Amino acid sequence: MSLNTQIFIAALLGVVVGCVLRLYPDTTLFSNSIYGLSIMSSIFIGCLKMLLVPLIFTSIVVGVASLESGKQLGKVWKVTLMCSFTTMSLSLILGLTCAHIFEVGKGMDVTLFKHAMDQYHSPAQSLDTSSFITNFIQNTLINPFKAFSDGNVLSVVVFAMLIGLALVYGGKKFQNIRTFNEEFFNLVMMVVSWVMKLAPFGIFALLAKLIAKEDLSVLSRLAEFAAIVTGTTLFHGLIVLPLLLWIFGKMSPWKFFKGARLALITAFATSSSSATMPLSMKCAQENLGVRPKITGFVIPLGSHLNMDGTALYEAAAALFVANLIGLDLSLTQQIIVCLTAMIASLGAPGIPSAGMVTMIMVLQSVGLPAEAIAILLPIDRVLDTVRTMVNVEGDMMVSVVVDRYTKDEDVDHLPTKEVTSA
Ligand code: ASP
Repeated sequence: MSLNTQIFIAALLGVVVGCVLRLYPDTTLFSNSIYGLSIMSSIFIGCLKMLLVPLIFTSIVVGVASLESGKQLGKVWKVTLMCSFTTMSLSLILGLTCAHIFEVGKGMDVTLFKHAMDQYHSPAQSLDTSSFITNFIQNTLINPFKAFSDGNVLSVVVFAMLIGLALVYGGKKFQNIRTFNEEFFNLVMMVVSWVMKLAPFGIFALLAKLIAKEDLSVLSRLAEFAAIVTGTTLFHGLIVLPLLLWIFGKMSPWKFFKGARLALITAFATSSSSATMPLSMKCAQENLGVRPKITGFVIPLGSHLNMDGTALYEAAAALFVANLIGLDLSLTQQIIVCLTAMIASLGAPGIPSAGMVTMIMVLQSVGLPAEAIAILLPIDRVLDTVRTMVNVEGDMMVSVVVDRYTKDEDVDHLPTKEVTSA
């Protein structure tokens, strides 16, 4: 049985068990079951939290170090980074704006995180901008080993970026470290895939607990949020990206979607940009006319670092969680959410539900409890399909634009990247 089917069945069972438990409040059956479900869900969430730092570190080092292949490409490198940054920023703004307009999760009083929120502390809320910047520098540029052990993800990200850049500039000199890091990344990914096998149990427990304990309108709010995020992600994929492609890539959306459809459908079906990468490269080269040297650089890099759908989701989800808890995020906090959502999507590898793991860092950046991903997990697999599709679309779109803007660049002397399976 595929993982998706297992998750679907687990979610259904979770709903049934939750409904049954609701019939027996204030009984030992209820309290014992809630205890059992809490243990089950904490194991799953604990595993995700445990993997966050190693995953983010290795993933960012691998992603940044892969810029090496484009080092000699000069303009290609710059245009790629500029395009990715622009599309991701637009997706973040769109995500936050829609979450505000539709007031996702507003007016609820969720008790699930009350305990975690007792210790709520967000320095950004009380600080003015200048002390916030000082605070930010002091907390971020710290001993990396302390950052690793404290789970200070932002510091880990900065350190990982520096190490990645050093690998780019050091080139062959650090080949062993590069290989070690790549292997370590693959190792962490293997553990992630094991933890994902626990997802059906985690989702069952979370849903059952949610339904047994909470006001059922939380579920309708969750469905509403899922619909709004899906709509906004599709708006980004069907309107914003095609418009940019048309203006900067001089390619009609019709031609683009016709050429890219195979990769897009695969992304939707697999929820994995990495697994779709060979197809994205093939579609971009053969159907969209992008030079192989360009796809060989832009698409592997993009499948790691350029994730519009994930960024949009993470920003909107943070606002949703804040609203559910009844917390008004200040402007500074929302800017932090945007920045961390961008970094979190850079750190998310192109595998199913990776955005869910890195979501923890977005929540923590403004002091929201990591446990709050509990509420998002049941709907994650559904949302992952669309956001992965838009992630892959973004990669192919950037390759078209980069190809057009670097037509004069001599890339022939560079080795061609083979279209191989991820
Ligand atoms: N599944 C997404 C991808 O592969 C990452 C995510 O979970 O957002 O692009």
